[in-house]
Amino acid sequence: MFSKVLIANRGEIALRVIAACKEMGLKTVAVHSEADRDSLHVRYADDDVCIGPAASKQSYLSISSIIAAAEITGADAIHPGYGFLSENPHFAEIVNECGLTFIGPPAEAIRLMGDKARARETAKNAGVPIIPGSEGSMKTADEAAEVANAIGYPVILKAAAGGGGRGMRICWDPSELHRQYETARNEAERAFGSGEVYLEKYLERPRHIEIQVFADNFGRVVALGERECSIQRRHQKLIEESPSPALTDELRKRMGDAAIRLCQAVNYVNAGTIEFLFQDGEFYFMEMNTRIQVEHPVTEEVTGIDLVKEQIRVAAGERLTVPEGEFRLRGHAMEFRVNAEDPVTFAPNPGKIRELHLPGGPGVRVDTHIYRDYVVPPHYDSLLAKLVVRGKDRLDTIARGRRALEQFVVEGVKTTIPLHRAILNNEQFIRGDISTRFMDNFSL
Ligand code: ADP
Repeated sequence: MFSKVLIANRGEIALRVIAACKEMGLKTVAVHSEADRDSLHVRYADDDVCIGPAASKQSYLSISSIIAAAEITGADAIHPGYGFLSENPHFAEIVNECGLTFIGPPAEAIRLMGDKARARETAKNAGVPIIPGSEGSMKTADEAAEVANAIGYPVILKAAAGGGGRGMRICWDPSELHRQYETARNEAERAFGSGEVYLEKYLERPRHIEIQVFADNFGRVVALGERECSIQRRHQKLIEESPSPALTDELRKRMGDAAIRLCQAVNYVNAGTIEFLFQDGEFYFMEMNTRIQVEHPVTEEVTGIDLVKEQIRVAAGERLTVPEGEFRLRGHAMEFRVNAEDPVTFAPNPGKIRELHLPGGPGVRVDTHIYRDYVVPPHYDSLLAKLVVRGKDRLDTIARGRRALEQFVVEGVKTTIPLHRAILNNEQFIRGDISTRFMDNFSL
């Protein structure tokens, strides 16, 4: 086992990893930018190192500064969290070359799944259903038009190196294709440094359902049930839950088996998520995320498994401690992303938290780094807290969510709390009749 873990991240996920380390008796190192000096992860870690100015490029994305911090403090492993360097295969390689352990999958698996066009091919070869679309990336707009004509409109153009819901363009008919193809290429080039795009059939009312997977170095691969993440805005998740109201035991098993096959095909190790779109009883591979996800607590609540501790154990060469045998989800869990955003326009709203009351009581978990008088910096993503509630079934969980959101008070910055409260009173949501288009017609 490691003795000291450096967390190459900030915010709530840095605290989450520190919590796991502390409970396992491991020392921790926080790294932080100049803008994050007063952050809780800096206070809670055993050691802390300032790695650069506010801009992520010069701090949380600076591989050399992070490696230097690990060397100075004597850390023997690095947990990347999510975002920042977590899905950068080059970072994983350098960490390992420096004699440290990267707490995550092998660089090769990150690289393969990071190219979403290649990931589709890999999934297809592993017998996992994919959304009809192009084989690999496309070279020209004419090639894109040909594929689109063959599969039928609408289609969606996506950046092969994409992520975070960016670089996607929907085309409703052939007249738009050439223009959208150029726009998508330019956007992808600017955002990800690669203009490669691929194309898929655009599903009109899908659900986003993903499978949490975990693999160890002894050949064991498990699927830990699903999370439904259909409540999104601009392709960004807002609410996640498990189990999905749409899945039967039989479908869960089929999706889990497909996810396991894909992991085996890429020699996957550690935690990962296979994202699917689900429509009319069929599921289709969308992409694999080779890291711990923001919404991992939902799975922790219904499985009783601490995913971050498992990540650390597996990276240290230990076996997964997930019990063998038939696997069942217990009860229901839901996560609400509380962002520092205007709930109507979704414009970021950084600033000082003047008043704060966090909900508690039975079945309530809050993963957060904020405190009263904390100043939310404008440089990073706007996630302030994840409110996770657990209940005996979906309706019980919704009731608990309403209660917890009522008790959740944040003053000084605008948040998405009022939006979550409204969604929990929406008839369609309560019935579980949701799709990724749910928010299209929803407003406060
Ligand atoms: P990112 O990695 O940028 O988050 P994803 O490929 O995971 O991109 O897609 C994000 C979201 O975009 C999905 O959850 C879904 O709402 C929408 N989406 C992606 N592909 C399709 C598609 N083929 N049809 C309909 N919606 C899609």
